[in-house]
Amino acid sequence: MARLSSRGVRLHKKGLELLQPEPRVVKIAKDYFHIHTYGGFTPFFAGLLKKKLMATRCANRACKEKRLFLPPRPHCPDCLLPMKWVAAPLEGTIYTHTTILYPGAPFKLTTPCPLISVELPGVCTRMMSYLKRGTPYIGMKVRAVFNTAKPTHSILDLAFEPVEPA
Ligand SMILES: [Zn+2]
Repeated sequence: MARLSSRGVRLHKKGLELLQPEPRVVKIAKDYFHIHTYGGFTPFFAGLLKKKLMATRCANRACKEKRLFLPPRPHCPDCLLPMKWVAAPLEGTIYTHTTILYPGAPFKLTTPCPLISVELPGVCTRMMSYLKRGTPYIGMKVRAVFNTAKPTHSILDLAFEPVEPA
């Protein structure tokens, strides 16, 4: 049996920082991290590093579901078998948009930030992203751009920019 110190039990760590007394608000330092798997979505995030938009389509010949999904679905919504990964077009048009002026605390981009919904040819779903430069409008031609220099390994490695007129 361990012997107790003659000095008794004491705090050995610093307390919390008091930010405001009424109502009481304290600052809590955290020193943990979170390990997260992308699981079946791994090919999509790996594709961003290769400047590709990886979408999925059902490869089961007996299945009638043949639409191209982006964001991808690892499994077919109809037959539930694993889908085939296919590179989607990188250029499309803005379907709709909004601009974030007053984001919540976890928002990682600067504001004002134009969020856009992009229609890509042959893709049955619309990709949500942000417009890296320019002022968005419905029907604007845009092209996917990728942050491969200092990747975040998150969806923020994808953005869109206006397609310059030729
Ligand atoms: Zn299917």
